[in-house]
Formats: sequence, structure tokens, C-alpha cells
Amino acid sequence: MNYKKMKKVELHVHLDGSVRVPTLAELAGITIEEANAKAVAPLKCHNLADYLTRFELPISVMQTKENLIRIASELAMDLKDENVIYAEIRFAPHQHTSALTLEEVVDAVLEGLAKVDLKTNLILSMMRNDSLERNKQIIDLAKKYEDDGVIGVDLAGDEATYKTSFFEGLFAYAKEKGVKYTIHAGEADGEVSIADAIRFGAKRIGHGIRIISSPQLMEYVKENNILLEVCPTSNVQTNVVSEIKEHPINRLVHSGIKVCINTDNRTVSNTTLSDEYARLNQAFDYTEKDFMTFNINAINATSLTDEEKASLINELKSN
Ligand SMILES: [Zn+2]
Repeated sequence: MNYKKMKKVELHVHLDGSVRVPTLAELAGITIEEANAKAVAPLKCHNLADYLTRFELPISVMQTKENLIRIASELAMDLKDENVIYAEIRFAPHQHTSALTLEEVVDAVLEGLAKVDLKTNLILSMMRNDSLERNKQIIDLAKKYEDDGVIGVDLAGDEATYKTSFFEGLFAYAKEKGVKYTIHAGEADGEVSIADAIRFGAKRIGHGIRIISSPQLMEYVKENNILLEVCPTSNVQTNVVSEIKEHPINRLVHSGIKVCINTDNRTVSNTTLSDEYARLNQAFDYTEKDFMTFNINAINATSLTDEEKASLINELKSN
């Protein structure tokens, strides 16, 4: 199966983790080899915190409008090139404000995405190690851009150190503002983290795979149509899973839980969405029909209008 040719959607891809290596090298004034060594994580990191160190180089060059425009447009090109027809791209605006305002950062990323004929929306990530006040600014920012390319917010960062339970007030604020959210949970921390995210009202969970240890929570997620944004290669690298063949996705799918497939970070995880499909096909014999189901799950879990969802599903089926 040629997965590159197949139409796909992606809901969980970080902009800063998906900067082309030659672009990183050029913008940082280093060699491709050096950029590779700094930004691409090995097949096995010690843990999530170790994996997250690979974001230092990309973030260091993502501090000007010009670079943000270029990096966003290159990601959109790369997605379009492998027949992604809709993508939700996430990044943490506060990490790009050494010389820019939050609005200038979002405007630059939107300008870059608009250069490519691909339907996209942004998810603005709040960081677990940031203050409540700074994270609230991201919710306000998402509200400000809700009709202009921002579809919601996310919570990212070191889940093992900064527990999901700390953020109840933050998501109450998002709810009050009417801003939609997905939360990274059940990656570096266990089922309690996922239960907290669900308690805060998340209808989508980034990763969520450690739910496998809780049959009760699995039942709840299934009954309530909560989507797990699964990123297989990334989970192997952060050592949540030993290898793809051991990935809980297959047990989740067979228990009736809705999942979608994602790269997480094209550069840090040295992958593409087509690669992720190929690896899952090899490990679990997933067919084109299975991938279609995962893509439809993804579209149905977005905050797009019913009309937009129907149009994307039609496009997927025109493969
Ligand atoms: Zn992620």
C-alpha cells in the first residue's frame, strides 16, 4: 500500500518538533549533521523529559517573523506533499516571544500556513512548567483568534513532573471562555492523568495510551466518544512503549475506543504520517479501511462545523 498517496488527516503535530533539518541548519548556522544530532531524538530516549531537550534548537531559531513564516509554510508543504488534507498544528506561542508579541507570533505562523493550499487550524499549547497567568494568556489568545485559524488550546510539556491535576483552574477558565481543548495525558504519567483530563472536560486526549491499565476508564472513554490522538513512534522513543509491536493501540482499537494516528513531531521523531501508517500495517496488519476509520474518527472529534466535516470525509473517500 502506498500510504503517501492515501489521503489523510493529522490532529497532533507540533510545529517546533517538525522543522526541516536543512532549514534548522541554515537558520542556526550549523551543519546538517549538527542539526540532526541536536534535533532528532534517538530511537530510545530515557524518558519524555529527555525527548523534550530536542526542542531547544528549533525554538532558538523560531524567534523572528520571517523564520516562523518560513517554518510554518514548509510544514504545510510537507503535509500536503504526503496528501494530508487537513491538519491541526500545535505550538506554544510563549516560547517564541524573545523579540515578538504573542499576536505577532500567531500572525506569522498563520501567514506561513496561508502560503500553502491546505486546510489547517492551529492549536495553541500551554506549557506545564508555565505559570497560571501566562497559560491563561494563551486561552485569551485562542479566543481572540477563534474565527481566524485557531481552533483551541492544548497542555504540553513534562507530564511526569507537572501533574495534570495541577491545572483544574486553567481548564475551568477555558470552559468559561468557550475555548475548546485537547490535553496531553497518559504519556509520561498514568491513568490518573487521563482521568483528570477527562474530569476537566477534554473530549480529545494527546496520547492517552496508558489508559490500557484501567478497564473502567477505557469503558468510559469508549462510551463518551473521547478520541485518543495516538503517536506510535514518539511513544517508543519516550519509552512509554518498548516497540511498535507492543503498542497498546491494537488493544484500544479492538476494545472499541476511537483513536487517530499522528506523528507528534516529524523531525524530533524522524517520521512522517505515511511512515506511521506503514509501521502500524507491519505490526498489526491494519488495512486501508482501518486507516479510513481512524481518519474519520479524527474528523468527527474536531471542532469543525458539520459541513466542514462532511466535506473532508467525502474527500477522504474519494481516495
Ligand atoms: Zn505531543
